[in-house]
Parts: sequence; C-alpha cells; structure tokens
Amino acid sequence: MKRLVILGGGESGVGAARLGLKLGYDVFLSDKGVLADRYAEQLNSMGIEYESGTHTAEKILNADLVIKSPGIPDKAPMVVALREKGVEIISEIEFAGRNSDARMICITGSNGKTTTTLLTYHILKSAGLNVGLAGNVGHSLTAQVADNAHDIYVVELSSFQLDGMYRFCADVAILTNITPDHLDRYDYKFENYIASKFRVLQNMTSDKLFIYGADSPAVVDYMEKIDVAPQSVGFTYGDSRGCSAGMEGDNISVKLDGVDFVIDKSRVTIKGRHNVYNAMAAICAAIRVGVKSDVIISALESFPQVEHRLESVCTKNGVTYINDSKATNVDSAWYALDSMTSPVIWIAGGTDKGNDYSVLDDLVRAKVKRLVCMGLDNKKLIEHFKAIVPVSDTDSLECCIEECNRYAESGDVVLLSPCCASFDLFKNYEDRGRLFKLEVTK
Ligand code: ADP
Repeated sequence: MKRLVILGGGESGVGAARLGLKLGYDVFLSDKGVLADRYAEQLNSMGIEYESGTHTAEKILNADLVIKSPGIPDKAPMVVALREKGVEIISEIEFAGRNSDARMICITGSNGKTTTTLLTYHILKSAGLNVGLAGNVGHSLTAQVADNAHDIYVVELSSFQLDGMYRFCADVAILTNITPDHLDRYDYKFENYIASKFRVLQNMTSDKLFIYGADSPAVVDYMEKIDVAPQSVGFTYGDSRGCSAGMEGDNISVKLDGVDFVIDKSRVTIKGRHNVYNAMAAICAAIRVGVKSDVIISALESFPQVEHRLESVCTKNGVTYINDSKATNVDSAWYALDSMTSPVIWIAGGTDKGNDYSVLDDLVRAKVKRLVCMGLDNKKLIEHFKAIVPVSDTDSLECCIEECNRYAESGDVVLLSPCCASFDLFKNYEDRGRLFKLEVTK
C-alpha cells in the first residue's frame, strides 16, 4: 500500500485525504497549526490518521507521495527534508487532475481571479451544465473528484498552487493579468512570479484554449518569449483588432468558435473596466464549452456582486459606501478609482507591501476629494499624497469612518480600497471588509 502524506489540514488537505482514501492509499495528514473542528470531524469519520500542532518526521518522511497546501512555503524545513529524500511533492489540484477526466477551466492572474471564476461558474451553472467550483473558492477539487461529482470544473489557481502542478492539463486556461505581487515567495524576482503564472499553460495542446489579458504588458511580453501551444485568444479594453474580445463603443464584443457575441457593458451587473475584462474572459470560456449567447447574456445580467470587491454597501444622507477591502495591491485600487463616477473620499492604508503609489497620482488628482488613511503607520501614504490631495491620518476603523463622514457630502462616495494588506488592524481582508460594513451601517 502506498503512503500518502498531506501537509496542511484545511479545505484542500482534507479533500485530498478523502480522494487518497478512495484510491486505496495509506493516508496520513499533518498540520503544524490547529485543525478546525469541522475538518477534524471529517477526518475522524473517515478513520484517517492525523496530527495537529506538530510535524512528526518519522510519519512524514516515509511517504511515497506528498500533497502540500499552497500556504506552506518551499523553504519550510519539512518540505526541504522531503525534497532531499526525493519524495514527490504535488498540490491538491495536481492530485485531482491525475484522477479525473472532467474538463477543467483554470483561472489565474494577479487580480480578478475570484471574480472571473465565480462569474464563469455562474454562467455555466445558468446553462444547466453539471459544473463544480473549486480552487481558492468553493469546495476542494479533490473532494469533488472523489465523489465523481461534476463533468466540468471552474478552478481558481494561485501561483502557489501552480507551483505544485506538473502533469495537470487545463482544457481552458485564463490568465487575467500579471502585476508584481507575492514577490517575497519568488526571491524578489518578478520573472519568477511571471513564470509561475504561466505554468497554467503546461501540457496544453493545440486543441485547448488560452484566454489572456492582452492589455497586460507582462503577459504579452512573456508570450513573445515562449512557445504557446494552445489556441490563444486575447481580450482588450481597446477595439478588438487582433483579439477575440474587445470594445466596440459601449459594447463588449467577442468573436470565438464562429459565435459573434455582443452585449452593452451597462447590462453587466459588475461595473468598472476591470470587470469588463473579467466578463470578457468568462464569456470566451463559456462560448468554448458551448453555452448559448442568450444564456450568457442573462447570466451576466443576474450575477450577484462579490463580497469585498467593489461591493456597494449602503447609501446614507446621499453618500454611497463601497467595500473594496480585497484591493490589497496598487493595481486593484487603480481599477477601483478608475471606475468611480462621483467624488471620492478614499480610505487607504494598512501593511505596505513595498508599494509604488505614483501610478495612482493622476486618478487621485482627478477623482479623490480627500484621502483618509487608516493604519498603524501611514507615513509613506501621507508623504506621497499630501501634495496632491487633502489627507487625514487615522489609526482605527471608528476614527476613520468618523473622519469620512465629517467630509462626505451628498453625492459623494466613501470607498474602502486600501491597496495594502490588512494585518496591522485586522485579521484579514474579509474581517476588514465586514467590520467596515458594520461600522457604516450602524
Ligand atoms: P483575486 O482573486 O485575483 O485577488 P478578485 O476578483 O478577488 O481577484 O479581486 C481582487 C481585487 O482586484 C478587487 O479589489 C477588485 O476590485 C480588483 N479587480 C478585480 N478584477 C480585476 C482585474 N481584472 N484587474 C485589476 N483589478 C481587478
């Protein structure tokens, strides 16, 4: 009996344990942190041996195959020790791919992954396809594969997940865009991060489809340097010359597989230029799997807003409050500001990841009435923007909202789009977004 060791007992680890058991492996799961009760219960009910709070070397190093959670860095001592022994280490998605014949639509990029994944899933589901949602959102892919649950999956992939994928082959791959992020995990080399994102193309053949953001210089430049085997179709906010998807006036236009698809962008529920990109990518994928245009259109008109992504929270005294807490880097905040059509009181700040704020200068000049910084250390933001726009300095959510309300007038927007990580004042971006919503609806 082959031994399967799983490092990390979250959604993906426990799903992998389930598939491992079904395939007849001797399964052991080890998590250095605390296992959530629901996952411990699932493992108990399957009779799978596990440990939490520690990694016991004797129980791990004898593995034939290891599945590592994407959250565990390659430099972790146990991972290094396994590699020295020559044990194969893969990601949960790779394990699922090796054991499934379902079609896989895989979505990666620096920004827009979750929105594009949920939108693609929503369109396919509306078309009545037997589709599953997996990766960073939804349930673990391995658990769904273990149940033989679906014919087709929409899978959100981070670069960390892609790093653990080798033989996996996507049927449709979407690469939304690439801008610098997570460089701490890539030896501070942007090229390494780009190469990691492009792993989504590995093993794809000419009958498969690659959908890419043609307005993203890092994507287009890298494509010129490599052989791209699958059919490649780009999407652009410009006119569609040379691309399958582009703009014709206010219309989103997509031409693919003999289909000529058009929708006025105002009919799509999610707004802003970035969401036009996300919609174009999802439309291309839906056309490729045979979804009819009228179904795509009604799905685009009914897609619910995604929490923490330009989420409209409420309007009070004529002031609209928008939660874009997921904007943890400069590029995503750029798209948020770009999509604003009313004067903005902009909340930014948190843990700076080495941001270069100057790309925001023109937009801030044009759209922002006041910047309200919210963070324990706002020096860098204040220094950068004080010559451009009035700035307030706050170090708690309560003070921040009070300050916003002091300056907001009817017709304004209060936008939380922090372009920083949240860990100075909050547990994570979800916590920041939820507390923001509570505070402004008080
Ligand atoms: P990801 O899963 O890649 O982090 P999300 O869909 O969760 O992407 O969106 C993250 C943030 O980026 C949000 O603040 C959102 O407004 C912004 N965003 C969404 N789509 C794009 C895009 N295509 N390009 C740039 N920014 C985007």
